[in-house]
Amino acid sequence: MKNERCDIVIVGAGAVGCAIAYLLSKAGLQVTILEQDSIGSGSSAHATGLFTLLGSDFSDGPSFEMALASHSICKTMVPALEHETSIETLFQHKQAIRLALDQEDKDMIQSMGTWQSRYLPIRWLSATQCHQMEPRITKKVIGGMLEPDALQIDSYRLTLALAKASEQNGATIKFRRATKIKHHKKKVTGIEVPNGEIECESIILATGSWSNLFSDQIKYPIFVEPLKGERLILKMNGKPLPLFLGSPKGGHIITRKDGLWSIGSTGGRDDDDQSGKPSSAINYSPSEEARLDLLQRAVMVMPCLENAQVVQQLAGSRPATPDRKPLIGSIPTWEGLYLATGHTARGVHLSFITAKMIHDFILGSGNQQLFNYEAFSPARFNASRKLDYLEDSPIFEG
Ligand SMILES: Cc1cc2nc3c(=O)[nH]c(=O)nc-3n(C[C@H](O)[C@H](O)[C@H](O)COP(=O)(O)OP(=O)(O)OC[C@H]3O[C@@H](n4cnc5c(N)ncnc54)[C@H](O)[C@@H]3O)c2cc1C
Repeated sequence: MKNERCDIVIVGAGAVGCAIAYLLSKAGLQVTILEQDSIGSGSSAHATGLFTLLGSDFSDGPSFEMALASHSICKTMVPALEHETSIETLFQHKQAIRLALDQEDKDMIQSMGTWQSRYLPIRWLSATQCHQMEPRITKKVIGGMLEPDALQIDSYRLTLALAKASEQNGATIKFRRATKIKHHKKKVTGIEVPNGEIECESIILATGSWSNLFSDQIKYPIFVEPLKGERLILKMNGKPLPLFLGSPKGGHIITRKDGLWSIGSTGGRDDDDQSGKPSSAINYSPSEEARLDLLQRAVMVMPCLENAQVVQQLAGSRPATPDRKPLIGSIPTWEGLYLATGHTARGVHLSFITAKMIHDFILGSGNQQLFNYEAFSPARFNASRKLDYLEDSPIFEG
């Protein structure tokens, strides 16, 4: 490969890297995406693509404001993307219920509801009201919080659409591993790939679970660790669900737009828990334990799923940070080096706002920031990098 030049190199063609490439190429910048494997082959191909706001991933303040902003951008960007690329992303809007199966769930959901209701018109439903909306929910349910407008998309198709639209805007995708950041006194000058180098002004590391492999090289700790997650795709006779279901102990149950069902996802107490392991040791093997656990949890919420047929088991790796929030922004003491990673269980949902934030950091926001971007600064952690929340997260709702 001859040495080449562009404005921005984005390392990683997952949902996050491709969303950034889409916005920056649309703004007229010369963008190159480097991908060591194939488009969406990391976490993004394995995600449910569910955008609910009520789960445990978002907290009061900038975290929730960011999630809301991404939700809103997604609703206008996805139809435009589908139009530009002719890729059908299986995008759908539905109401969602976060179900309480016991008093502990109810207390937690209602306590979060006290602040969530400042942002969203949510409403508590009795068990009878839950059954009126979906009679197949277990009789053991004791109520649920109704979210008026949740979204779901096929995350792999979304990533492909973002990549295709970026190419249509003039971006280049190269299937090469980024090996070394080139710089002069910590000002980015380019990036090395096997057999060549690309000169550029800025580099964005959208490298998901592999991000910490750059820590030594840049002498800055990137607090991202791989966190395995598995989910199942099912075929079920009977009507599709009219809404998305989630519950703290049961995870999600949804019917996709193609008629298949998705249940999941396993979380921090996997037997194959990868926290603390280097990103180079990512485990993508589906496990029998996860399959049985997921089926058992789903049947606990919807007993009729006992008759469903498993058609696919997906095992991926979430790029997890100690506080479950992403790392977005420039790396202190460097010029032209940015992180857009660590989105943990919400990277597909947050890919839209991440792209907007990186766009604003590089090109200026033009208007006021929608929320405090500083809350996601890579500089927010001190020496601790323990993923404390794993102990309470046997299941993730996405
Ligand atoms: C089972 C499961 C369910 C999930 N459900 C949801 C959900 O419902 N909603 C949601 O929002 N999120 C969900 N997630 C989380 C979501 O998948 C991630 O947060 C998101 O995909 C992260 O996107 P990314 O682009 O940062 O990372 P990735 O998709 O992992 O992309 C990173 C890319 O960088 C490439 N790369 C790394 N290093 C290099 C290098 N040196 N050179 C070149 N390329 C490199 C990798 O090959 C990879 O393709 C789920 C995850 C799992 C596992």
